Amino acid sequence: MLSSEIIAQIKRMVGEGRCFDGEVERLCYAFDSSLESQLNRWIPDLVVQPQNRDQIVAIMKLANEYRIPVVPRGAGTGQCCGAIAHRGGIVMDMSLMNKILRYDLENLQVVVQPGIVHAELNQALAQHGFFFPPDPGSTKMCTLGGMIAFNSSGMRAVKYGTTKNYVLGLEVVLPTGEVIVTGGQRSRALKSVAGYDLTSLFVGSEGTLGIITAVRLKVLPIPEKRGLVVAFFDNLEASGEAVIQVFKSRLSPSAIEILDRSAIKAAVKYKPELVLPDVEAMLLFEVDGSPPGVAYEAQNIARVCENFASKVEWTDDPERLGQLWAARSVVGAAAGQIKEGATRVYIGEDICVPIYRVPEALRRIQQIGEKYGITIVTYGHIGDGNLHAAPIINTYDSSEIERARKVGDEIHRLALELEGTTTGEHGVGLTRAAYMEEELGLSLEIMRRLKKALDPLNILNPGVDLQ
Ligand SMILES: Cc1cc2nc3c(=O)[nH]c(=O)nc-3n(C[C@H](O)[C@H](O)[C@H](O)COP(=O)(O)OP(=O)(O)OC[C@H]3O[C@@H](n4cnc5c(N)ncnc54)[C@H](O)[C@@H]3O)c2cc1C
Repeated sequence: MLSSEIIAQIKRMVGEGRCFDGEVERLCYAFDSSLESQLNRWIPDLVVQPQNRDQIVAIMKLANEYRIPVVPRGAGTGQCCGAIAHRGGIVMDMSLMNKILRYDLENLQVVVQPGIVHAELNQALAQHGFFFPPDPGSTKMCTLGGMIAFNSSGMRAVKYGTTKNYVLGLEVVLPTGEVIVTGGQRSRALKSVAGYDLTSLFVGSEGTLGIITAVRLKVLPIPEKRGLVVAFFDNLEASGEAVIQVFKSRLSPSAIEILDRSAIKAAVKYKPELVLPDVEAMLLFEVDGSPPGVAYEAQNIARVCENFASKVEWTDDPERLGQLWAARSVVGAAAGQIKEGATRVYIGEDICVPIYRVPEALRRIQQIGEKYGITIVTYGHIGDGNLHAAPIINTYDSSEIERARKVGDEIHRLALELEGTTTGEHGVGLTRAAYMEEELGLSLEIMRRLKKALDPLNILNPGVDLQ
Protein backbone atom coordinates (compact mmCIF):
# COMPACT_ATOMS: atom_id res chain seq x y z
CA MET A 1 0.00 0.00 0.00
CA LEU A 2 1.27 3.45 -0.86
CA SER A 3 0.68 6.24 1.62
CA SER A 4 -1.57 9.11 0.60
CA GLU A 5 1.45 11.40 0.97
CA ILE A 6 3.45 9.43 -1.63
CA ILE A 7 0.46 9.29 -4.00
CA ALA A 8 0.06 13.05 -3.63
CA GLN A 9 3.77 13.55 -4.43
CA ILE A 10 3.50 11.40 -7.57
CA LYS A 11 0.36 13.24 -8.65
CA ARG A 12 2.30 16.47 -8.43
CA MET A 13 5.07 14.92 -10.58
CA VAL A 14 2.93 13.61 -13.48
CA GLY A 15 -0.27 15.60 -13.14
CA GLU A 16 -3.52 14.69 -11.36
CA GLY A 17 -5.18 13.35 -14.53
CA ARG A 18 -2.30 11.00 -15.30
CA CYS A 19 -2.23 9.18 -12.00
CA PHE A 20 -4.91 6.61 -11.07
CA ASP A 21 -5.56 5.22 -7.61
CA GLY A 22 -9.22 4.22 -8.12
CA GLU A 23 -10.00 0.51 -7.88
CA VAL A 24 -11.55 0.19 -11.34
CA GLU A 25 -8.66 1.88 -13.15
CA ARG A 26 -6.09 -0.15 -11.23
CA LEU A 27 -7.94 -3.41 -12.01
CA CYS A 28 -7.56 -2.71 -15.74
CA TYR A 29 -3.80 -3.06 -15.30
CA ALA A 30 -3.95 -6.45 -13.54
CA PHE A 31 -3.99 -8.38 -16.84
CA ASP A 32 -1.92 -9.16 -19.86
CA SER A 33 -2.81 -11.98 -22.31
CA SER A 34 -1.46 -14.77 -20.05
CA LEU A 35 -3.66 -17.41 -18.41
CA GLU A 36 -1.95 -16.69 -15.06
CA SER A 37 -3.03 -13.05 -15.03
CA GLN A 38 -6.62 -14.13 -15.72
CA LEU A 39 -6.57 -16.50 -12.77
CA ASN A 40 -5.02 -14.10 -10.25
CA ARG A 41 -5.65 -10.55 -9.13
CA TRP A 42 -2.32 -8.75 -8.98
CA ILE A 43 -3.69 -5.22 -8.76
CA PRO A 44 -1.19 -2.33 -8.62
CA ASP A 45 -1.50 0.32 -5.88
CA LEU A 46 -1.14 3.08 -8.43
CA VAL A 47 -1.05 3.57 -12.20
CA VAL A 48 0.90 6.47 -13.70
CA GLN A 49 1.13 7.70 -17.26
CA PRO A 50 4.33 9.75 -17.55
CA GLN A 51 4.63 12.16 -20.44
CA ASN A 52 8.39 12.67 -20.40
CA ARG A 53 11.67 11.26 -19.18
CA ASP A 54 12.14 13.73 -16.32
CA GLN A 55 8.89 12.60 -14.70
CA ILE A 56 10.14 9.01 -14.84
CA VAL A 57 13.45 10.03 -13.26
CA ALA A 58 11.58 11.75 -10.41
CA ILE A 59 9.34 8.71 -9.84
CA MET A 60 12.27 6.28 -9.84
CA LYS A 61 14.15 8.39 -7.29
CA LEU A 62 11.11 8.38 -5.03
CA ALA A 63 10.56 4.65 -5.61
CA ASN A 64 14.17 4.03 -4.61
CA GLU A 65 13.87 6.06 -1.45
CA TYR A 66 10.74 4.19 -0.32
CA ARG A 67 11.50 0.83 -2.01
CA ILE A 68 8.34 0.90 -4.10
CA PRO A 69 8.07 -1.69 -6.90
CA VAL A 70 7.68 -0.14 -10.39
CA VAL A 71 6.48 -2.14 -13.42
CA PRO A 72 6.90 -0.52 -16.86
CA ARG A 73 4.09 -1.40 -19.25
CA GLY A 74 3.38 -0.86 -22.95
CA ALA A 75 0.04 -2.13 -24.26
CA GLY A 76 -0.18 -5.20 -22.00
CA THR A 77 -0.36 -7.63 -24.94
CA GLY A 78 2.45 -9.78 -23.53
CA GLN A 79 1.59 -13.43 -22.96
CA CYS A 80 3.82 -14.43 -20.03
CA CYS A 81 2.55 -12.34 -17.11
CA GLY A 82 5.47 -9.94 -17.47
CA ALA A 83 3.92 -6.47 -17.13
CA ILE A 84 1.98 -7.23 -13.95
CA ALA A 85 2.49 -5.80 -10.45
CA HIS A 86 3.05 -9.14 -8.70
CA ARG A 87 4.27 -7.30 -5.61
CA GLY A 88 2.00 -4.27 -5.78
CA GLY A 89 3.46 -0.79 -6.24
CA ILE A 90 3.29 1.33 -9.38
CA VAL A 91 2.47 0.32 -12.95
CA MET A 92 4.06 2.82 -15.30
CA ASP A 93 1.95 2.97 -18.46
CA MET A 94 4.24 4.27 -21.24
CA SER A 95 1.55 4.70 -23.88
CA LEU A 96 1.54 8.52 -23.82
CA MET A 97 5.21 8.66 -24.82
CA ASN A 98 4.39 7.70 -28.41
CA LYS A 99 6.05 10.21 -30.73
CA ILE A 100 8.52 9.86 -33.57
CA LEU A 101 11.26 12.21 -32.37
CA ARG A 102 13.50 12.26 -35.45
CA TYR A 103 13.52 10.92 -39.00
CA ASP A 104 17.07 10.25 -40.16
CA LEU A 105 16.27 8.14 -43.20
CA GLU A 106 19.45 9.06 -45.12
CA ASN A 107 21.16 7.17 -42.32
CA LEU A 108 18.52 4.38 -42.30
CA GLN A 109 17.27 5.24 -38.83
CA VAL A 110 14.59 6.94 -36.74
CA VAL A 111 14.40 7.95 -33.10
CA VAL A 112 11.10 7.15 -31.39
CA GLN A 113 9.51 7.16 -27.97
CA PRO A 114 8.77 3.68 -26.55
CA GLY A 115 4.97 4.02 -26.39
CA ILE A 116 4.52 4.22 -30.16
CA VAL A 117 2.35 1.37 -31.50
CA HIS A 118 4.14 -0.88 -33.99
CA ALA A 119 1.61 -0.49 -36.84
CA GLU A 120 1.54 3.30 -36.42
CA LEU A 121 5.32 3.46 -36.72
CA ASN A 122 5.26 1.37 -39.89
CA GLN A 123 2.41 3.44 -41.37
CA ALA A 124 4.45 6.60 -40.80
CA LEU A 125 7.60 5.02 -42.23
CA ALA A 126 5.73 3.66 -45.28
CA GLN A 127 5.01 7.21 -46.40
CA HIS A 128 8.76 7.57 -46.88
CA GLY A 129 9.25 4.10 -48.42
CA PHE A 130 10.78 2.50 -45.31
CA PHE A 131 9.80 -0.10 -42.70
CA PHE A 132 10.84 -1.62 -39.40
CA PRO A 133 10.86 -5.35 -40.30
CA PRO A 134 9.92 -7.27 -37.10
CA ASP A 135 6.19 -7.95 -37.48
CA PRO A 136 4.32 -9.35 -34.47
CA GLY A 137 0.73 -10.48 -34.90
CA SER A 138 -0.16 -7.84 -32.30
CA THR A 139 1.08 -5.04 -34.60
CA LYS A 140 -2.02 -2.87 -34.15
CA MET A 141 -1.72 -2.93 -30.35
CA CYS A 142 1.80 -3.55 -29.09
CA THR A 143 4.34 -0.82 -28.40
CA LEU A 144 7.99 -0.54 -29.39
CA GLY A 145 8.98 -0.46 -25.69
CA GLY A 146 7.26 -3.82 -25.13
CA MET A 147 8.83 -5.23 -28.28
CA ILE A 148 12.31 -4.19 -27.19
CA ALA A 149 11.82 -5.42 -23.63
CA PHE A 150 10.76 -8.85 -25.00
CA ASN A 151 12.96 -8.82 -28.13
CA SER A 152 9.78 -9.63 -30.06
CA SER A 153 9.64 -10.82 -33.62
CA GLY A 154 7.09 -12.49 -35.88
CA MET A 155 6.73 -14.11 -39.26
CA ARG A 156 9.59 -12.41 -41.08
CA ALA A 157 12.29 -13.17 -38.49
CA VAL A 158 13.50 -15.98 -40.73
CA LYS A 159 14.90 -13.42 -43.19
CA TYR A 160 15.04 -10.14 -41.24
CA GLY A 161 15.91 -11.25 -37.70
CA THR A 162 14.31 -10.04 -34.49
CA THR A 163 13.89 -6.66 -32.79
CA LYS A 164 17.45 -6.79 -31.41
CA ASN A 165 18.84 -6.58 -34.94
CA TYR A 166 17.30 -3.10 -35.35
CA VAL A 167 18.01 -1.39 -32.03
CA LEU A 168 21.00 0.92 -32.50
CA GLY A 169 20.77 2.72 -29.17
CA LEU A 170 18.52 3.39 -26.20
CA GLU A 171 17.89 6.10 -23.66
CA VAL A 172 17.20 4.32 -20.39
CA VAL A 173 16.20 5.51 -16.90
CA LEU A 174 17.90 3.14 -14.48
CA PRO A 175 16.16 1.89 -11.31
CA THR A 176 18.25 4.44 -9.36
CA GLY A 177 16.93 7.32 -11.46
CA GLU A 178 20.18 7.78 -13.42
CA VAL A 179 19.83 8.24 -17.20
CA ILE A 180 22.11 6.56 -19.76
CA VAL A 181 22.26 6.55 -23.54
CA THR A 182 23.58 3.30 -25.00
CA GLY A 183 25.12 2.88 -28.45
CA GLY A 184 26.98 6.23 -28.26
CA GLN A 185 25.82 9.50 -26.67
CA ARG A 186 25.44 11.40 -29.94
CA SER A 187 25.99 8.60 -32.43
CA ARG A 188 24.08 8.31 -35.69
CA ALA A 189 26.30 5.49 -36.86
CA LEU A 190 24.80 2.19 -38.00
CA LYS A 191 27.32 0.14 -36.05
CA SER A 192 29.72 0.55 -33.17
CA VAL A 193 31.93 -1.66 -31.02
CA ALA A 194 32.75 1.04 -28.47
CA GLY A 195 32.64 -0.68 -25.09
CA TYR A 196 30.35 -3.39 -23.81
CA ASP A 197 27.15 -3.81 -25.83
CA LEU A 198 24.75 -2.35 -23.27
CA THR A 199 22.05 -1.91 -25.90
CA SER A 200 21.84 -5.68 -26.20
CA LEU A 201 21.69 -6.01 -22.42
CA PHE A 202 18.51 -3.95 -22.28
CA VAL A 203 16.90 -5.62 -25.32
CA GLY A 204 15.05 -8.60 -23.87
CA SER A 205 15.49 -7.44 -20.25
CA GLU A 206 11.71 -7.59 -19.70
CA GLY A 207 11.45 -4.31 -17.81
CA THR A 208 13.74 -5.52 -15.03
CA LEU A 209 16.89 -3.44 -15.67
CA GLY A 210 15.69 -0.01 -16.78
CA ILE A 211 12.84 1.99 -18.27
CA ILE A 212 13.35 2.67 -21.98
CA THR A 213 12.46 6.28 -22.76
CA ALA A 214 13.81 6.67 -26.33
CA VAL A 215 14.93 4.29 -29.05
CA ARG A 216 17.26 4.74 -32.03
CA LEU A 217 16.00 2.22 -34.56
CA LYS A 218 17.43 0.95 -37.82
CA VAL A 219 14.90 0.84 -40.67
CA LEU A 220 15.03 -0.64 -44.19
CA PRO A 221 13.57 0.28 -47.61
CA ILE A 222 10.26 -1.52 -48.30
CA PRO A 223 10.79 -4.35 -50.80
CA GLU A 224 9.25 -3.62 -54.18
CA LYS A 225 7.20 -6.82 -54.43
CA ARG A 226 5.99 -9.81 -52.43
CA GLY A 227 5.05 -13.31 -53.56
CA LEU A 228 3.56 -16.32 -51.82
CA VAL A 229 3.73 -20.09 -52.19
CA VAL A 230 1.09 -22.22 -50.47
CA ALA A 231 1.56 -25.98 -50.16
CA PHE A 232 -0.60 -28.71 -48.58
CA PHE A 233 0.87 -31.91 -47.13
CA ASP A 234 -0.77 -35.25 -46.33
CA ASN A 235 2.04 -35.94 -43.93
CA LEU A 236 3.63 -33.67 -41.30
CA GLU A 237 7.15 -35.00 -41.78
CA ALA A 238 6.98 -34.14 -45.50
CA SER A 239 6.27 -30.49 -44.64
CA GLY A 240 9.38 -30.34 -42.43
CA GLU A 241 11.46 -31.97 -45.17
CA ALA A 242 10.16 -29.40 -47.72
CA VAL A 243 11.35 -26.50 -45.55
CA ILE A 244 14.81 -28.02 -45.18
CA GLN A 245 15.07 -28.67 -48.93
CA VAL A 246 14.04 -25.06 -49.69
CA PHE A 247 16.99 -23.77 -47.65
CA LYS A 248 19.31 -26.38 -49.17
CA SER A 249 18.25 -25.13 -52.62
CA ARG A 250 19.72 -21.71 -51.69
CA LEU A 251 16.32 -20.00 -51.53
CA SER A 252 15.64 -17.32 -48.88
CA PRO A 253 11.94 -16.86 -48.06
CA SER A 254 11.06 -13.85 -45.89
CA ALA A 255 8.53 -15.97 -43.94
CA ILE A 256 7.64 -19.66 -43.65
CA GLU A 257 4.50 -20.41 -41.67
CA ILE A 258 2.87 -23.71 -40.76
CA LEU A 259 -0.69 -24.60 -39.79
CA ASP A 260 -1.25 -28.15 -38.55
CA ARG A 261 -4.52 -30.05 -39.12
CA SER A 262 -6.12 -28.54 -36.01
CA ALA A 263 -5.21 -24.99 -37.10
CA ILE A 264 -6.53 -25.57 -40.63
CA LYS A 265 -9.81 -26.85 -39.15
CA ALA A 266 -10.05 -23.80 -36.85
CA ALA A 267 -9.42 -21.40 -39.74
CA VAL A 268 -12.11 -23.08 -41.88
CA LYS A 269 -14.63 -23.11 -39.04
CA TYR A 270 -14.03 -19.40 -38.48
CA LYS A 271 -14.08 -18.53 -42.21
CA PRO A 272 -15.73 -21.31 -44.26
CA GLU A 273 -15.09 -19.36 -47.48
CA LEU A 274 -11.38 -20.21 -47.13
CA VAL A 275 -12.09 -23.72 -48.52
CA LEU A 276 -8.95 -25.52 -47.31
CA PRO A 277 -8.36 -29.29 -47.68
CA ASP A 278 -8.30 -31.62 -44.66
CA VAL A 279 -4.56 -32.35 -44.62
CA GLU A 280 -1.90 -32.80 -41.93
CA ALA A 281 -0.12 -29.51 -42.65
CA MET A 282 -0.20 -26.37 -44.73
CA LEU A 283 2.89 -24.24 -45.40
CA LEU A 284 3.02 -20.63 -46.56
CA PHE A 285 6.30 -19.29 -47.94
CA GLU A 286 6.56 -15.54 -48.48
CA VAL A 287 9.28 -14.09 -50.69
CA ASP A 288 10.09 -10.42 -51.26
CA GLY A 289 12.41 -8.27 -53.35
CA SER A 290 12.55 -7.16 -56.99
CA PRO A 291 9.74 -8.44 -59.30
CA PRO A 292 11.95 -10.88 -61.28
CA GLY A 293 13.62 -12.07 -58.06
CA VAL A 294 10.24 -12.72 -56.42
CA ALA A 295 8.98 -14.74 -59.39
CA TYR A 296 12.23 -16.75 -59.53
CA GLU A 297 12.22 -17.56 -55.80
CA ALA A 298 8.49 -18.37 -55.65
CA GLN A 299 8.63 -20.67 -58.70
CA ASN A 300 11.64 -22.51 -57.32
CA ILE A 301 10.11 -22.91 -53.86
CA ALA A 302 6.96 -24.28 -55.52
CA ARG A 303 9.12 -26.71 -57.51
CA VAL A 304 10.83 -27.97 -54.36
CA CYS A 305 7.50 -28.35 -52.54
CA GLU A 306 5.97 -30.36 -55.40
CA ASN A 307 8.26 -33.24 -54.41
CA PHE A 308 6.61 -33.44 -50.99
CA ALA A 309 3.16 -31.83 -51.17
CA SER A 310 -0.23 -32.95 -52.47
CA LYS A 311 -1.05 -29.47 -53.79
CA VAL A 312 1.04 -26.32 -54.43
CA GLU A 313 0.15 -22.82 -55.65
CA TRP A 314 2.20 -19.65 -56.03
CA THR A 315 1.22 -16.06 -56.77
CA ASP A 316 2.57 -12.54 -56.84
CA ASP A 317 -0.83 -11.01 -57.56
CA PRO A 318 -1.62 -8.79 -54.52
CA GLU A 319 -5.32 -9.78 -54.41
CA ARG A 320 -4.70 -13.55 -54.54
CA LEU A 321 -1.85 -13.06 -52.07
CA GLY A 322 -4.28 -11.54 -49.57
CA GLN A 323 -6.71 -14.46 -50.05
CA LEU A 324 -3.98 -17.05 -49.53
CA TRP A 325 -2.57 -15.30 -46.45
CA ALA A 326 -6.05 -15.14 -44.90
CA ALA A 327 -5.83 -18.63 -43.33
CA ARG A 328 -2.68 -17.64 -41.44
CA SER A 329 -3.99 -14.19 -40.53
CA VAL A 330 -7.17 -15.49 -38.89
CA VAL A 331 -5.79 -18.55 -37.12
CA GLY A 332 -4.93 -16.75 -33.84
CA ALA A 333 -8.50 -15.50 -33.48
CA ALA A 334 -9.99 -18.67 -34.98
CA ALA A 335 -8.32 -21.10 -32.56
CA GLY A 336 -10.80 -20.47 -29.75
CA GLN A 337 -13.77 -21.16 -32.03
CA ILE A 338 -12.92 -24.79 -32.57
CA LYS A 339 -14.72 -25.83 -29.37
CA GLU A 340 -18.12 -24.59 -28.25
CA GLY A 341 -18.07 -22.44 -25.08
CA ALA A 342 -14.28 -22.51 -24.85
CA THR A 343 -11.52 -20.00 -25.23
CA ARG A 344 -7.87 -20.02 -26.24
CA VAL A 345 -5.42 -19.61 -23.35
CA TYR A 346 -1.78 -18.63 -23.46
CA ILE A 347 0.34 -21.23 -21.69
CA GLY A 348 3.16 -23.25 -23.31
CA GLU A 349 2.42 -21.15 -26.39
CA ASP A 350 5.86 -20.12 -27.60
CA ILE A 351 8.37 -22.95 -27.81
CA CYS A 352 11.12 -22.87 -30.40
CA VAL A 353 12.87 -26.05 -31.56
CA PRO A 354 15.43 -26.89 -34.25
CA ILE A 355 13.68 -26.77 -37.65
CA TYR A 356 14.14 -30.48 -38.39
CA ARG A 357 12.34 -31.35 -35.14
CA VAL A 358 9.22 -29.25 -35.85
CA PRO A 359 7.13 -32.18 -37.19
CA GLU A 360 8.11 -34.27 -34.15
CA ALA A 361 7.20 -31.35 -31.84
CA LEU A 362 3.81 -30.93 -33.57
CA ARG A 363 2.97 -34.64 -33.13
CA ARG A 364 4.10 -34.66 -29.51
CA ILE A 365 2.03 -31.54 -28.74
CA GLN A 366 -1.07 -33.32 -30.06
CA GLN A 367 -0.23 -36.36 -27.92
CA ILE A 368 0.12 -34.15 -24.84
CA GLY A 369 -3.32 -32.68 -25.58
CA GLU A 370 -4.84 -36.17 -25.95
CA LYS A 371 -3.22 -37.32 -22.70
CA TYR A 372 -4.95 -34.53 -20.75
CA GLY A 373 -8.14 -34.36 -22.82
CA ILE A 374 -7.39 -30.80 -23.96
CA THR A 375 -7.89 -29.62 -27.56
CA ILE A 376 -4.75 -27.88 -28.87
CA VAL A 377 -4.51 -25.81 -32.05
CA THR A 378 -0.93 -25.34 -33.27
CA TYR A 379 0.60 -23.04 -35.86
CA GLY A 380 3.78 -21.03 -36.10
CA HIS A 381 6.93 -19.82 -37.72
CA ILE A 382 8.41 -23.09 -38.98
CA GLY A 383 11.18 -21.13 -40.75
CA ASP A 384 12.82 -20.59 -37.36
CA GLY A 385 11.18 -23.47 -35.45
CA ASN A 386 8.87 -21.26 -33.35
CA LEU A 387 5.53 -22.95 -32.57
CA HIS A 388 2.41 -21.42 -31.04
CA ALA A 389 0.39 -24.16 -29.35
CA ALA A 390 -3.02 -22.93 -28.23
CA PRO A 391 -4.87 -24.99 -25.58
CA ILE A 392 -8.61 -24.41 -25.95
CA ILE A 393 -10.43 -24.66 -22.62
CA ASN A 394 -13.44 -23.58 -20.63
CA THR A 395 -11.84 -21.13 -18.19
CA TYR A 396 -14.74 -21.55 -15.73
CA ASP A 397 -13.90 -25.25 -15.32
CA SER A 398 -11.19 -25.67 -12.66
CA SER A 399 -10.35 -29.19 -13.83
CA GLU A 400 -9.68 -27.93 -17.36
CA ILE A 401 -7.50 -25.13 -15.99
CA GLU A 402 -5.48 -27.62 -13.96
CA ARG A 403 -5.07 -29.87 -17.00
CA ALA A 404 -4.13 -26.88 -19.20
CA ARG A 405 -1.36 -26.03 -16.72
CA LYS A 406 -0.04 -29.60 -17.00
CA VAL A 407 -0.22 -29.33 -20.80
CA GLY A 408 1.79 -26.08 -20.66
CA ASP A 409 4.37 -27.69 -18.39
CA GLU A 410 4.80 -30.72 -20.65
CA ILE A 411 5.12 -28.54 -23.75
CA HIS A 412 7.84 -26.47 -22.09
CA ARG A 413 9.69 -29.63 -21.05
CA LEU A 414 9.28 -31.02 -24.56
CA ALA A 415 11.00 -27.91 -25.98
CA LEU A 416 14.02 -28.46 -23.73
CA GLU A 417 14.11 -32.18 -24.55
CA LEU A 418 14.14 -31.37 -28.29
CA GLU A 419 17.14 -29.04 -27.83
CA GLY A 420 15.00 -25.94 -28.12
CA THR A 421 13.85 -23.13 -25.84
CA THR A 422 10.71 -22.53 -23.77
CA THR A 423 10.26 -19.13 -25.45
CA GLY A 424 11.16 -18.05 -28.98
CA GLU A 425 9.65 -14.56 -28.86
CA HIS A 426 7.09 -14.01 -26.06
CA GLY A 427 9.45 -13.79 -23.09
CA VAL A 428 9.88 -15.41 -19.67
CA GLY A 429 7.79 -13.27 -17.30
CA LEU A 430 6.27 -15.21 -14.44
CA THR A 431 4.94 -18.01 -16.64
CA ARG A 432 8.29 -19.47 -17.66
CA ALA A 433 10.43 -18.45 -14.65
CA ALA A 434 10.38 -22.01 -13.29
CA TYR A 435 12.24 -23.35 -16.34
CA MET A 436 15.12 -20.85 -16.38
CA GLU A 437 17.40 -22.78 -14.02
CA GLU A 438 17.29 -25.80 -16.34
CA GLU A 439 17.39 -23.80 -19.57
CA LEU A 440 20.10 -21.29 -18.67
CA GLY A 441 22.31 -22.99 -16.07
CA LEU A 442 25.05 -20.75 -14.66
CA SER A 443 24.08 -17.95 -17.05
CA LEU A 444 21.02 -17.37 -14.86
CA GLU A 445 23.31 -16.64 -11.92
CA ILE A 446 25.26 -14.10 -14.01
CA MET A 447 21.94 -12.48 -14.98
CA ARG A 448 21.03 -12.24 -11.30
CA ARG A 449 24.36 -10.51 -10.59
CA LEU A 450 23.74 -8.02 -13.41
CA LYS A 451 20.28 -7.34 -12.02
CA LYS A 452 21.74 -6.72 -8.57
CA ALA A 453 24.36 -4.35 -9.97
CA LEU A 454 21.76 -2.21 -11.75
CA ASP A 455 18.84 -2.58 -9.35
CA PRO A 456 20.30 -3.28 -5.90
CA LEU A 457 16.95 -2.77 -4.13
CA ASN A 458 15.06 -4.94 -6.63
CA ILE A 459 12.35 -2.38 -7.28
CA LEU A 460 12.03 -2.69 -11.08
CA ASN A 461 9.51 -5.31 -12.19
CA PRO A 462 10.19 -7.60 -9.22
CA GLY A 463 8.71 -11.07 -9.30
CA VAL A 464 9.47 -12.00 -12.91
CA ASP A 465 12.18 -14.10 -14.50
CA LEU A 466 15.27 -13.50 -12.44
CA GLN A 467 14.11 -13.75 -8.86
C1 LIG B 1 -2.85 -11.39 -30.72
C2 LIG B 1 -1.41 -11.33 -30.30
C3 LIG B 1 -0.44 -11.65 -31.23
C4 LIG B 1 0.91 -11.62 -30.87
N1 LIG B 1 1.86 -11.92 -31.81
C5 LIG B 1 3.16 -11.86 -31.49
C6 LIG B 1 4.16 -12.17 -32.46
O1 LIG B 1 3.87 -12.51 -33.61
N2 LIG B 1 5.45 -12.08 -32.07
C7 LIG B 1 5.82 -11.71 -30.81
O2 LIG B 1 7.01 -11.63 -30.53
N3 LIG B 1 4.89 -11.42 -29.87
C8 LIG B 1 3.59 -11.49 -30.17
N4 LIG B 1 2.64 -11.20 -29.22
C9 LIG B 1 3.07 -10.87 -27.85
C10 LIG B 1 3.18 -9.35 -27.55
O3 LIG B 1 2.31 -8.62 -28.37
C11 LIG B 1 4.60 -8.84 -27.73
O4 LIG B 1 5.44 -9.44 -26.77
C12 LIG B 1 4.72 -7.31 -27.61
O5 LIG B 1 6.00 -6.91 -27.99
C13 LIG B 1 4.40 -6.77 -26.23
O6 LIG B 1 4.28 -5.36 -26.35
P1 LIG B 1 3.41 -4.51 -25.30
O7 LIG B 1 3.54 -3.09 -25.67
O8 LIG B 1 2.04 -5.04 -25.23
O9 LIG B 1 4.20 -4.80 -23.96
P2 LIG B 1 3.66 -5.21 -22.52
O10 LIG B 1 2.96 -6.51 -22.58
O11 LIG B 1 2.95 -4.07 -21.91
O12 LIG B 1 5.05 -5.40 -21.76
C14 LIG B 1 5.95 -6.37 -22.18
C15 LIG B 1 7.25 -6.26 -21.36
O13 LIG B 1 7.90 -5.06 -21.70
C16 LIG B 1 8.19 -4.28 -20.55
N5 LIG B 1 8.13 -2.89 -21.01
C17 LIG B 1 7.13 -2.28 -21.70
N6 LIG B 1 7.48 -1.01 -21.99
C18 LIG B 1 8.72 -0.82 -21.48
C19 LIG B 1 9.62 0.29 -21.45
N7 LIG B 1 9.33 1.47 -22.03
N8 LIG B 1 10.80 0.13 -20.82
C20 LIG B 1 11.14 -1.05 -20.24
N9 LIG B 1 10.33 -2.12 -20.24
C21 LIG B 1 9.14 -2.01 -20.87
C22 LIG B 1 7.15 -4.71 -19.53
O14 LIG B 1 7.59 -4.50 -18.21
C23 LIG B 1 7.03 -6.21 -19.85
O15 LIG B 1 8.07 -6.91 -19.21
C24 LIG B 1 1.28 -11.25 -29.54
C25 LIG B 1 0.29 -10.92 -28.62
C26 LIG B 1 -1.05 -10.96 -28.97
C27 LIG B 1 -2.07 -10.58 -27.96
